[in-house]
Amino acid sequence: MTVLLQIGRRPPGPAASALPAPAAPPTGHPDLRVFRSAHGAHLFLADGSRVYDLPDERTAARLERWATAPDGALDELARELGLPLWERPPRIDGTPAEVPPLASLSLNVMQACNLSCGHCYADEGRFGGSARAMPRATAFAAVDRLLAEAAPGADVVVGFMGGEPLLARELVHQVVAYAERAGAATGHPVRFALTTNLTVLRPEDARLFAAHPFTVTVSLDGDRAGHDALRRAPGGGSAYDRLRAGLALLERHGRPRHLAARVSVTPHTGRLLDVLEHGIGLGFDEVGFAAVVSAPDPGYEITADTFGGFLAQMVECGERALAELSAGRRYPFGNFETALHQLHRGTHRPYPCGAGAGYLSAAADGGLYACHRLVGDPEFAMGSLAEGPDRAARERLLAQRHVDRAEPCRSCWARYLCGGGCHHEVTRRGRPGCDYIRGWLAFCLRAYVELCEAAPGYFRAPADQAGPVGAAGRREQS
Ligand code: SF4
Ligand code: SF4
Repeated sequence: MTVLLQIGRRPPGPAASALPAPAAPPTGHPDLRVFRSAHGAHLFLADGSRVYDLPDERTAARLERWATAPDGALDELARELGLPLWERPPRIDGTPAEVPPLASLSLNVMQACNLSCGHCYADEGRFGGSARAMPRATAFAAVDRLLAEAAPGADVVVGFMGGEPLLARELVHQVVAYAERAGAATGHPVRFALTTNLTVLRPEDARLFAAHPFTVTVSLDGDRAGHDALRRAPGGGSAYDRLRAGLALLERHGRPRHLAARVSVTPHTGRLLDVLEHGIGLGFDEVGFAAVVSAPDPGYEITADTFGGFLAQMVECGERALAELSAGRRYPFGNFETALHQLHRGTHRPYPCGAGAGYLSAAADGGLYACHRLVGDPEFAMGSLAEGPDRAARERLLAQRHVDRAEPCRSCWARYLCGGGCHHEVTRRGRPGCDYIRGWLAFCLRAYVELCEAAPGYFRAPADQAGPVGAAGRREQS
């Protein structure tokens, strides 16, 4: 479960807040956590992300005492309480994952942007370099490389990133046509993903999104005032008005299969619940938040001191989602629904994401990197389109970044849900948001149990069947 914050580029300088922040030390036992809901006491086991109902408060209190000050082996405690607390061998140990076949490749088709946003991690798309567009031959070579590196017959995803990828409109259209032809010839169904500010959308783009299996993610930072305060359009004008015009074009000419909004949260963002409901009201299939942790202007950063307020606002949104979903009404709060479905599937993993494993990103110059946020960073260079992915570099990344090998993650109960934090964020800023991450996941655990009781059919909905399935069973009776 990637609990994504957002990192920006900062100009060189001595700002103290640019230094990696020490992570808050985890509290409690690394392997289990007792929590309570409106339906009693429950047990979360990190191994397999399993959730159990506990029979009574006495058992819960005994487990909490043991978790704080173990007075014997876990096996003995399990026998004493008659609980299935441990599985041998554990589902995850410190063994690095094998490098998997490539499943997804993002193309940085336009390393430039038409907006100028103070909180942008990508330095307006340039990633610290000069603005540049990806040549067509490079983009086609990226598609060929993805298909060559994929498992036989597997679905693949081609992503379009920027800057603003629709500034390279012609190339995006050409790549979609090429990838579908090449995918059909090699036996790979191809899906597409594109992240955009939606300000330069044209009718032909909307028709492209509707005609092919696209997920489109739109950067939305609030209502008109909130969005325009963060997203400055050169020459004036309202970026929000242009975004709304883009949404109208999507309604008129064709809507993508999945249309998501992603909100970058800064200290200037208004009440998150208002922003969430504004996004839902605009018709997005999903609205999600990511805190900005480092920005070119530190005034846009959520700091260790302000994460508490961010958590409180996230929980307020989560409570609203819980109430609405419990009543059988749709409420597409992306962070919440993603977390609950991952808990339901028993998702557990030793990495925050597929970066450097099944996912790579191609720069405009043909270099391969672990992900789109790490373009240009030599520490995360993963080969080139010409030479292919660097297997040794990917193996090194998977060995170094295993959550059971990281401090203080190895003693954190949330480690197999969190995965140790986004590589980009951890490298630049350390782990300033750990208390937030654990607080959010603790809330989601309670909400998961309460939603299971209120609306058990929710987890049989189609969203439950989509995407990769982690492992393990669901909430179990002890
Ligand atoms: S696993 Fe996540 S929440 Fe836990 S210490 Fe590591 S980064 Fe922080
Ligand atoms: S490393 Fe890249 S893919 Fe992974 S969570 Fe961070 S931004 Fe996302």
